[in-house]
Amino acid sequence: TPRLRFAPSPTGYLHVGGARTALFNWLYAKHYGGQFLLRIEDTDRARSTEASTRAIFEGLGWLGLAWDEEVVFQGAHGERHRADAMRLVERGAAYRCFCTPAELDERRKAAEAEGNAFRYDRRCDRLSADEVARRVDSGEPFAVRFRVPEGETSWTDVVHGRITFPNKDIEDFVVLRSDGTPIYNMAVVSDDIAMAITLVMRGDDHISNTPKQILIYEALGAELPTFAHLPMIHGTDGKKLSKRHGATAVGDYEHMGILAEAMLNFLALLGWSPGGDREVMTVDEMIALFSTDGLQKKAAVFDPKKLEWMNGQHLMLLPIDAVVARVGAALVSAGLTTEEDLRARPDWYARLLEQLRVRGRTVDEIVRQAPPFLRDPIEYDEDAVAKHLLKDPAGSAALLGETRDTLAALPDWSTAPMEESLRALAERRGVGAGKLFQPLRVALVGSAASPGIFDVLELLGRDRSLHRLDVAVR
Ligand code: GLU
Repeated sequence: TPRLRFAPSPTGYLHVGGARTALFNWLYAKHYGGQFLLRIEDTDRARSTEASTRAIFEGLGWLGLAWDEEVVFQGAHGERHRADAMRLVERGAAYRCFCTPAELDERRKAAEAEGNAFRYDRRCDRLSADEVARRVDSGEPFAVRFRVPEGETSWTDVVHGRITFPNKDIEDFVVLRSDGTPIYNMAVVSDDIAMAITLVMRGDDHISNTPKQILIYEALGAELPTFAHLPMIHGTDGKKLSKRHGATAVGDYEHMGILAEAMLNFLALLGWSPGGDREVMTVDEMIALFSTDGLQKKAAVFDPKKLEWMNGQHLMLLPIDAVVARVGAALVSAGLTTEEDLRARPDWYARLLEQLRVRGRTVDEIVRQAPPFLRDPIEYDEDAVAKHLLKDPAGSAALLGETRDTLAALPDWSTAPMEESLRALAERRGVGAGKLFQPLRVALVGSAASPGIFDVLELLGRDRSLHRLDVAVR
């Protein structure tokens, strides 16, 4: 069965690109019935923090990308990394290098001063076995360097097809530092072998690491995994996604009221297409449709407007009680309602949010429309008041008074009789229905935009509606 992993370095928050990589690995594992593993690449002690490890857990948790087995912390496997590096030496694929960083630096500077690019000249590879033994015995520190063979290194990338690197372009690279810590590529390969990873799916920015990793696999006699390098993510201006483009942390979107389902769907389309012009998908649909055939080479574009649109689509797809649960929690946080009230009137909240969810693309946008339905006094939009209530003070106020009395006289507070009686009133007064409804709307919710006026009346209920009309008529 396929085994995949997401291997973030905990050096910041979980960003959009990382989440996309995690999602594709997860979707692949789910689609093909494999395992999705999580490895925290915390070997860079100076840059890794516990806070960002937590942010990765939280981000994946929010998105629902659960991993199989226990989290692997790369930093806990230094012994194995060292042992694998020394195995390379034993097998003759790597050699000890006694050149100190200061010496290498000096040679680099000298080469650069002559306008040459520095590359290691393999001088330690020419040391005799006796001399190596002597220097090791005397306790001289050494790094381990991979002896890059002649020829070329290639693989068939799932996304890009055949990729070939001439080995002459790869210098003998260090796999183990003289302090015994592994270089990134060594740790990754050692871990991927230990975790029995069969498909390595990661960002394009790792393509240049892959030939070195393949050389290490081959030298260790390990079976190669398949590689898939996902396209970079750009902003709408075509530049590499960065903070200039707005929020790039997954957690920010959670706090902005984006639904996890919508975020997943949006991320899924950054470098993958299910074919046709299909875009809106539930998580289960994404799992069913995911295949490496739909992976794209060209850079993906991160468009926050599209994310909002996607969120609006998912707000419509969710069962209404799920919308009530999520928006309800946000309403409580905003101090607009209480848990008790949510529990006491679930049907009313369901009706309210059926109306509001079509009018907002994010949870926040919905919450912003909610106050008139949940508390008094309402806030009035000055322009709307000026236009619909004050422009023709006598006329509007008189009509609004009649509207109030007509509604108050209804035996039954429901939409059909309301509509019938108000349309009849408009006709009697010889005005268009809008002349009645817009002032009524402003009186009820304080602004000129709201759900259908009869739905508003019904949601507010008789007492609250008549009270607001009284306030406005006065
Ligand atoms: N830790 C690497 C990163 O965060 C990923 C390594 C890999 O996927 O091979 O970019």
